[in-house]
Amino acid sequence: MEKLDIPIRYVRGIGPKRAEFLKRLGIETLEDALYYLPKRYEDRRSFKKISELTTNGPETISGQVIDSGIRITPRQKKKIFELVVHDGTGVITGKWFNQPFMQKVFKVGQKTILTGTVMKSRYSYGWEIENPEYEIIEDEERDIIHTGRIVPIYGATEGLSPRYLRSIMKRIIDHYSPNVSEFLPENIVTGYNFPPLSEAIRESHFPDHTDIEALNQGKGMARERLIFDELFLLELGLSLRKGKESIEKGIPFKADSILLKRLRENIPFKLTNAQEKVFEEIRSDMSSPHPMNRLLQGDVGSGKTVVALQAMLIAIENGYQAVIMAPTEILAEQHYLNIHRTIEIFGLKVSLLTKSLKDKDRKDILKKIADGDIHLVVGTHALIQEGVIFKALGLAIIDEQHRFGVIQRTNLRKKGINPHILVMTATPIPRTLALTLYGDLDISIIDELPPERRPVETILFKESMRSKVYLKLEEEIKKGRQAYVVYPLIEESEKVYLKAAVEMSERLKKNFPHRRIALIHGRIKAREREKIMDSFKNGDVDILVSTTVIEVGLDIANATVMVIEHAERFGLAQLHQLRGRVGRGSSQSYCLLMTPDYFSEEADRRLQALVRTNDGFRIAEEDLSIRGPGELFGTKQSGLPDLKIANLIRDSSVLEIARKEAFFLSKEDQFLKSHPALKDTLERKWKGRLGFVLN
Ligand code: ADP
Ligand code: MG
Repeated sequence: MEKLDIPIRYVRGIGPKRAEFLKRLGIETLEDALYYLPKRYEDRRSFKKISELTTNGPETISGQVIDSGIRITPRQKKKIFELVVHDGTGVITGKWFNQPFMQKVFKVGQKTILTGTVMKSRYSYGWEIENPEYEIIEDEERDIIHTGRIVPIYGATEGLSPRYLRSIMKRIIDHYSPNVSEFLPENIVTGYNFPPLSEAIRESHFPDHTDIEALNQGKGMARERLIFDELFLLELGLSLRKGKESIEKGIPFKADSILLKRLRENIPFKLTNAQEKVFEEIRSDMSSPHPMNRLLQGDVGSGKTVVALQAMLIAIENGYQAVIMAPTEILAEQHYLNIHRTIEIFGLKVSLLTKSLKDKDRKDILKKIADGDIHLVVGTHALIQEGVIFKALGLAIIDEQHRFGVIQRTNLRKKGINPHILVMTATPIPRTLALTLYGDLDISIIDELPPERRPVETILFKESMRSKVYLKLEEEIKKGRQAYVVYPLIEESEKVYLKAAVEMSERLKKNFPHRRIALIHGRIKAREREKIMDSFKNGDVDILVSTTVIEVGLDIANATVMVIEHAERFGLAQLHQLRGRVGRGSSQSYCLLMTPDYFSEEADRRLQALVRTNDGFRIAEEDLSIRGPGELFGTKQSGLPDLKIANLIRDSSVLEIARKEAFFLSKEDQFLKSHPALKDTLERKWKGRLGFVLN
């Protein structure tokens, strides 16, 4: 059996120099090469008779070399190698420009196959074919590579021509694929009628008898098997990790809390059915003897915070501490104020922990957290720093989890001993995909907004219509409402946009001399920022000009207008989040998207999607189809193995099957004791990212 992880340099016929080139294609090991599949295939099987050529276009011709030579163009002195081929019905001239060495390739009398675009000669009678792919047939029996068959077209790179790459791949596949060991359990291979692995690999590179259309659409049993393999290994890793977690000991809480009842009496609304349902799921997890690992999905404004707060009260009443981590200081401050206000009356101690704390205050808070004098901690990334030690952390919540990486989740978890974990996000995605990307989590979905919410009306405005936007602003402010005006802020160009935001607030002041306008951005000191947010919350500011620091989480119901400047520069998910800052009360809200008069079509597609719907699920789907999951979720930081062949969106139906099989198998054979080849492959694919050892 072949060792698949040998460096490509040591693969027969490669050597250090070629290895360097292959590396650029991401091929570092033998296995990488075997799974470096063609981008597409070309059918070069059927030979056209030269006498039957009628129109210009791609063709494959087979014949005998009857003449060759170099011609120099009269004016530009270009060297053209010409090859005259006869197939018994006619003659065609192959032309290679500036490649005089081609002269050495062919000999008169040889049999050859040429593939390329044929065209009627412009200067003389007959047909020509420019820079064709060629294959010299020395011995009819020998394997042909470049033409005369279904030919794989690989993504090439500088220094590696497609032709050369194809030769290398042919050698590798011929030599190594027959000995690749099967790792899928036999019942799966037979159950789904998959070809054996070695055959699937060979067929995917150099297909024999297959439908070219299907091949180019990524179909056919060979390709399907490889897609399944990849998704199966992904899901298997996830399910084993999950199984491991569910046998871990957690902290079973008593969940019929008195605090909970009191909280319910104190909140000014009735929970929606969806909120009740997900809270029951959380409550049941928290009373089980294993740690909860749950993702709470709910569109912006669906009321995730109050669900989180209830969970935190359960932990606290059981004598443990709870923590909630938010991605921005502004959001952490808001959570802190709300939570503090809501549960102060229960005599519970709440603290805010962010980077902006003074050293002395920080020390003081850290000590109280360590002593258990603080029950509930709200904070930012500052929470996962080293000096933060809890006396007894029972529940860790991450808000807006899409802004964090897996590492940060893990680090927060480490602040306790197998604490319950709840992560929350407003970026909804299809269920199986969510189950995969957040693989080791269970999922709860709030699929209902609180009553009396009206969809935000979203309108596009070009720069030349700016005065209309100002009219709308004025109209709402007159009614006593408030507005956000947001500027994009991209880190690299922070200064530029900051300047733009400052200028915008000046401009607004000129246009709204009678209105109170404030500016907020990431560079403003925490204390100052809190003041500004407070006055906005209290209605002392009419228009809040801001960078994207207000993107997530903020909840101010009286704000009914969101103006987004340069909306074309934002991604869809981000726009939806921003828009979610309004429409949080019962009055009609507006999202006014400003763009320059001219901008890209792709951006227009995003903005149209936003105008069309308020539904986060539909927006996420649109976003997925525009950007693909890799970019949307940064699979790099998701801690999952790279997918080389499968695509989580395109192959979603295979994903479901793979998931089912993987979870079934992992229940049967938790340590893969009876599947050694599978275990090997799994460990290689996950490269230590499984987070545990299988033995
Ligand atoms: P998100 O899910 O976006 O985090 P929040 O938790 O910030 O949403 O809630 C949005 C607003 O809706 C808050 O002002 C909250 O008090 C309010 N809210 C939450 N649940 C309900 C409900 N069942 N009925 C009415 N208002 C609610
Ligand atoms: Mg929120």
